Amino acid sequence: MDIEIYTNLAYIVAAALFIFGLKMLGSPATARRGNAFSSMAMLIAVIAGLIGSQAVSYEVIIVGILVGALIGTLSARLVAMTSMPELVALFNGSGGASSLLVGWATLYYSEGEVVPTFTAATIVLAILIGGLTFTGSLIAYGKLSERINSAALVFSGQRVLNSALLLAIVACAFLFCMEPSATSVYLYALLGLALLLGVMAVIPIGGADMPVVISLLNSYSGIAACAAGFAVGNNILIVAGALVGASGIILTNIMCKAMNRSLANVLFSGFGAAKTAKAVEGEVKPISVEDAYYILEAASNVCFVPGYGMAVAQAQHVVKELGKILEANGCEVSYAIHPVAGRMPGHMNVLLAEADVPYEQLVEMDDINPRIENVDVAIVIGANDVVNPSARQDPDSPIYGMPIINVDQARTVFVLKRSMASGFSGVDNPLFFGDNTRMLFGDAKESISGVIGEFG
Ligand code: NDP
Repeated sequence: MDIEIYTNLAYIVAAALFIFGLKMLGSPATARRGNAFSSMAMLIAVIAGLIGSQAVSYEVIIVGILVGALIGTLSARLVAMTSMPELVALFNGSGGASSLLVGWATLYYSEGEVVPTFTAATIVLAILIGGLTFTGSLIAYGKLSERINSAALVFSGQRVLNSALLLAIVACAFLFCMEPSATSVYLYALLGLALLLGVMAVIPIGGADMPVVISLLNSYSGIAACAAGFAVGNNILIVAGALVGASGIILTNIMCKAMNRSLANVLFSGFGAAKTAKAVEGEVKPISVEDAYYILEAASNVCFVPGYGMAVAQAQHVVKELGKILEANGCEVSYAIHPVAGRMPGHMNVLLAEADVPYEQLVEMDDINPRIENVDVAIVIGANDVVNPSARQDPDSPIYGMPIINVDQARTVFVLKRSMASGFSGVDNPLFFGDNTRMLFGDAKESISGVIGEFG
């Protein structure tokens, strides 16, 4: 009895730490501490859970923790910053698979006992949501890493097929709950259908919609964990799962708003599958490092707009160095961050924080756009989709309606990239042909280092 009270007290402490940790993740200034708080909460939850449970084999659990810690540490250390979203997809998938296994194992442990309908329903949810999160995340991983074609895969009859799949799942879930058992044929059917649903749900989503899918799958992994928590009667698993589920949904909503899309549109429309943007033509005006220097030397307001290419080039440190030089030259410097720039939420914030760019110089899209006309030079560093004016101007463009940073309205725009290639969405960019646009071709880090060299 005493142990149960102490366990629950520890769970309350862990839940509070989770909530404070999440809150701190809201700002780059406190994010590191937030991560430490949440890790501490997880450690408390695991230790309390182990002490509070009976009949566990500690050897197996300790070996499991050590193996898991080794894999986690190695993958976090070895992964390139640009591959972080793929890693997150795999983490989500692992979370889903764990909940599926926990739900399933609950049945084995209760073999011979009567499983209450509520427990059976939570087992169904853990297996269903965990299973679809697992395969959905694997497909998202494949698309992000381009191991499989990242384009939306849509075919006729897809919606009918998916509806039939959903109906079959509901029927199997109902029949299983009527007579729950580890050997129920409906359980195996449900498992297979859940895995198939994950694949079917993610294949029609492609291109620029991947960020939303990743955060949605993150939310699913939390909901699956929450269901597994109910199945095994573990309070902290319920709380932690609910927190992940809710924060994932909030993030999904923010991402949808950033792209001016509804979640239903993201999930079911098949990005870019039906639309063809107008062909983009015009004259490109390249600029040399020396000429870029002369313009920057005379500028009094410069705004950096980073994108995925800054991560590829690892240009954040030289960007900050150039920012400092410009400031010393009497120029006002800011860094405008688009919510879906890069390949994961907060990608640019993380890189700029790593380079110690002052937080007060970071500006959100909605804050910079109203005053972008006062910017002398907008320096676009490996960004493409998030500054593509066809999102504003071309109703036939697949990205039409997505809010962008309106760099085309600045006095001069420098676009730093290696070629005329399109960005993640595969949509051509009329910005490159604008009268006030100058293309500084080359690797972003080398180009910026060249400009710094000119400042001498
Ligand atoms: P984009 O993918 O649109 O463009 C990146 C650009 O960087 C490319 O056009 C590329 O051009 C350039 N680039 C690549 N390497 C270098 C380099 N070494 N030096 C200079 N330039 C380089 O990126 P954005 O950040 O503008 O937009 C993000 C896109 O990714 C959006 O479509 C978004 O929806 C999607 N996405 C976002 C996620 C998120 O959560 N933030 C997750 C997954 C997808 P070139 O090859 O010519 O150099």
